Amino acid sequence: MFKRLRNDFQLSIIALMGVIGVLGITPYAVYRLLHGNYLVGIADSIIVLSTITAVIYAWRTGDTEKPGLYLAGVFSVGATLIAINLGVNGLFWIYPLILFNFFMVSPGKAIVASLLVLAGLVGHSIWVPGSVFDSHYQMISFLVTNAMAGVLTFIFAYRTRIQREQLQVLAIHDPLTGARNRRAMNEELKIAVSSQRRHGRQYGVLAMDLDHFKKINDQYGHHAGDLVLVEFVELIKTCSRKEDRLFRFGGEEFLLLLPDTTPQGLKAAADNLLEQVRIQLRSPGGMVTVSIGGAMLRQDEPWSHWLQRADQCLYQAKSNGRNRSIIDTSREPLTTL
Ligand code: GH3
Ligand code: MG
Ligand code: MG
Repeated sequence: MFKRLRNDFQLSIIALMGVIGVLGITPYAVYRLLHGNYLVGIADSIIVLSTITAVIYAWRTGDTEKPGLYLAGVFSVGATLIAINLGVNGLFWIYPLILFNFFMVSPGKAIVASLLVLAGLVGHSIWVPGSVFDSHYQMISFLVTNAMAGVLTFIFAYRTRIQREQLQVLAIHDPLTGARNRRAMNEELKIAVSSQRRHGRQYGVLAMDLDHFKKINDQYGHHAGDLVLVEFVELIKTCSRKEDRLFRFGGEEFLLLLPDTTPQGLKAAADNLLEQVRIQLRSPGGMVTVSIGGAMLRQDEPWSHWLQRADQCLYQAKSNGRNRSIIDTSREPLTTL
């Protein structure tokens, strides 16, 4: 449970806001109901129940977007009603509401929600003079301080969001070639295994290792080797399907994950890549080739075993003379290759 909260930022925020919301608002709901202020008491109770429902939904489905939007909506409407009903005493709630919305939804949506709340309050006070604000001066002060809180929070939330997105990209990509890294590979292979179990999708992998790559480094320098790696990744990307995923899992070792493929399709893809590399990939010393080992994911097979089978085929391709592909098409568990 704590691991999930630690890994999923949005879920942890919804859960935290849920706990704070329930603990903070329940006493008010009870107090209002006991003192006969039923409108505010019911509004408070609806907010508390909605919060509990949204947190449970987010926890069960892993979807945080809809509950976030729902909670932002319920809290905004609730706070507006409470402020209209209680006047100045209720207005204090609008400040935490603004912060709350930024935690729940994207910065753009949060600013729209805040503007709607302010428009609702001002609209009502114009419609029924003296109902929300005691004076014009008070209304202007309220709007200015709210706008400041909103703009500052927007800047902060926007920056944080962009940084989080950049971090996510950095965390799963290899900086040299732009291919996904080993961490992303492990995750995607796990997803492939569970997707095969649940939906019967057929997956294949191709493990690729450039031939005699050390020679390129030794003869023309590390930089020349780096350029070959970058060009190799470009080439594989242009020669594979959009839904295929390319990972760099070692120095000059790569893995291509192919969803919705057949053993014949996997073999054809491997031979096509082999040929394109042979035709197009060049180092300062001339032609560069690759060896490929492939395997289809078996029923109920752990991903590490699947990877190991592809790796064994790659090893075999190397020892058979390199610049070739070998695909494991056997159905029974492997003993030796
Ligand atoms: P084989 O055909 O058996 O695969 O031979 P090889 O020379 O390609 O294989 P080996 O594993 O002996 O050498 C891999 C080399 O890749 C050694 C290492 O210096 C180099 N290498 C690993 N990462 C990088 C990198 O990021 N940039 C460069 N330029 N070289 C790298
Ligand atoms: Mg190699
Ligand atoms: Mg190698």
